Amino acid sequence: MRPAILNPLFTLVKDLPGIGPKSAALIERVAGPHVWDVVRAQPSRVQQRTRINEPSALYEDQLVTLPLLVLQHFVPRSPKAPYRVNCMAGDTPVSLVFFNAKGAWLQGQLPVREERIVSGKLARFNNNWQITHPDYMVPTEEAETIPAVEPIYPLTGGLTTRVWNKALDAALDLVPELPEWSDPSLKGQQAWPEWNPSLQGLHFRGEDVGGTRISALRRLAYDELLAQQLSLMIVRERGRRRGGNPLVGDGSLSDPVREALPFILTDSQQSAIDAVRSDMGRAQRMMRLIMGDVGSGKTMVALFSALIAVEAGAQVAIMAPTEILARQLHANLFDALAKVGVRIDILTGRDKAAARRPVLAGCAEGAIKVLIGTHALFQEGVEFRNLGLVIIDEQHRFGVHQRLALGQKGEAPHMLLMSATPIPRSMVLALYGDLDISKLLTKPAGRQPITTLVKPQDQWGEVAQALGRAIERGDQVYWICPLVEETELSALTAAEDRHAMLKEMFGPRVALIHGRMKGEEKDAVMRRFKAHESDILVATTVVEVGVDVPNATVMVIEHAERFGLAQLHQLRGRIGRGSKASTCLLLYTAPLGETARSRLSIMRESNDGFVIAEEDLRLRGAGDVMGTRQSGLPDMHFAALPEHQDLLEIAQRDAQLTLNKAPELSGDRGQALRTLLYLFEREQAIAFLEAG
Ligand code: ADP
Ligand code: MG
Repeated sequence: MRPAILNPLFTLVKDLPGIGPKSAALIERVAGPHVWDVVRAQPSRVQQRTRINEPSALYEDQLVTLPLLVLQHFVPRSPKAPYRVNCMAGDTPVSLVFFNAKGAWLQGQLPVREERIVSGKLARFNNNWQITHPDYMVPTEEAETIPAVEPIYPLTGGLTTRVWNKALDAALDLVPELPEWSDPSLKGQQAWPEWNPSLQGLHFRGEDVGGTRISALRRLAYDELLAQQLSLMIVRERGRRRGGNPLVGDGSLSDPVREALPFILTDSQQSAIDAVRSDMGRAQRMMRLIMGDVGSGKTMVALFSALIAVEAGAQVAIMAPTEILARQLHANLFDALAKVGVRIDILTGRDKAAARRPVLAGCAEGAIKVLIGTHALFQEGVEFRNLGLVIIDEQHRFGVHQRLALGQKGEAPHMLLMSATPIPRSMVLALYGDLDISKLLTKPAGRQPITTLVKPQDQWGEVAQALGRAIERGDQVYWICPLVEETELSALTAAEDRHAMLKEMFGPRVALIHGRMKGEEKDAVMRRFKAHESDILVATTVVEVGVDVPNATVMVIEHAERFGLAQLHQLRGRIGRGSKASTCLLLYTAPLGETARSRLSIMRESNDGFVIAEEDLRLRGAGDVMGTRQSGLPDMHFAALPEHQDLLEIAQRDAQLTLNKAPELSGDRGQALRTLLYLFEREQAIAFLEAG
């Protein structure tokens, strides 16, 4: 049971005072359903308002707060003309400008011959200073109500700053004082504030903004990391105590499958499979991560791991993050398994009840040996007779909760995680604690190199030529449309425009795929592209272009400067999969920032996912410190890498020491730590503790 002291944080946003159901729905979309979600939403940036007495060139185009003596109101003659109020700041004239103004209201707000404190963006127009639509206009005695620093939140879909701030204030009021779980000497050494003030500080509530916020954020990040490291260790320790089921294969399935392969496994694949074989043969649960760049052949590792488990009489669940990827995995594994008589099936959220029934039954009675699926796999109603191995493809796209939920389906099944994003060591630690890792470093033989070119968006001629040549050769092209920040809708418009334009240039064999399409539609487009019924596939990135089309040799990525390194690398991995040389064209729009420039040149120089991953982490750190979302870790709100790398290591040591001293989290600090685990929704770990 969650400690009662946390209840206020887990009340619903819609129950906050002064928040109507409509606002609540918007807030829920931005932050989440609970008060705690609102409180831990981080500002995306900070806006400074400089207090000045008189305008000067130094402050042009900046947000300023200054005292103004109101002189005269000029009511416009036509409704289209602006309403203007002339004022003086010391000896300097400043005009306040309003469009569609209500004169009477303004005359009340800005009485002639009185002083007002006004805040807004200072601009120069025809050599006169002016502020258009000031953000604040208050009497002198209320000057303090204008903030010097304002956090800006990434709000969308009609949620206004005013409503958000109201909800946030109400939510912050509900934040309780909690027993201190931090180690006192660590807290002292880091000069961390208490928990509640830290949260207030995060949102620039309270005094002294400068240093407090950074240490507030560090403290919260530490709390989060500590909760995570503790829960990982508890779960792991418990798994160790409970033991695993040794699965020892006899080669009766894997040997014939290996012999039938049209290629030889790479050394990396072979040693990963050997590691899995030896892990699963032990009476301890396997926790292994296979990291291999796109195209390094992880599917083979999954295939042989599954075969070993099936030889030993167990069932295997394989989970993929999207429908398309699940279907592709199914297609890729089907033949190999069918040949040796292993029944494989697929279950996705899209399947109707009638289609699900036989799959569920086959799985429950154990006839289906390998079940592939999406999130649908760990939902209720999916039962296995003897689940011995869980394989999670593209694991980084699942949350810890989802991975745990699937792990609960059997008696401590062995876990094999696969990641196409090579993850730096510190990230691995942050995500999983310490687990076993196999890297697929050697690429399958016969891979052709990918040449990456970086071009300004307006060098159309060359791009079109490259496409034309590829199509003439009988090759296919991916065209990735710009990542548009605002909405999926504008991404769609961009893709549709590009689609129309490319059709004009290259004829009808240009296809389009985007996130608004239904699953079946997407599959159909992909199937036709794979069957070479289209030459060019225009895609938005919301769409998983994970399908293997070896004949695709050109990829164009528009606005490449807007993508992260990992994402660019991931996208590029879709080409260079066949026997022909491939080209990746990264188009950018000037001017390029420092970081974007480095990213693109790393992409041009390296095709090694491990190198790129390390660079990515380094570059993101150099980026905007406030832009925490980018470097954020999955399932984490406060902690980010590399900023908090030192904290991660401390948290790991702290968790280890704590559990050594009090394995059941007993005593006062133990009690406080339990509260911490509930706070960060790691009660799974508590359940493990309680179960002993
Ligand atoms: P990923 O690691 O991205 O999941 P895949 O498993 O999809 O990579 O493999 C990419 C391609 O490489 C597939 O077409 C697969 O058949 C092929 N492949 C895998 N292993 C080898 C190998 N040892 N030799 C040659 N081709 C291989
Ligand atoms: Mg794969």
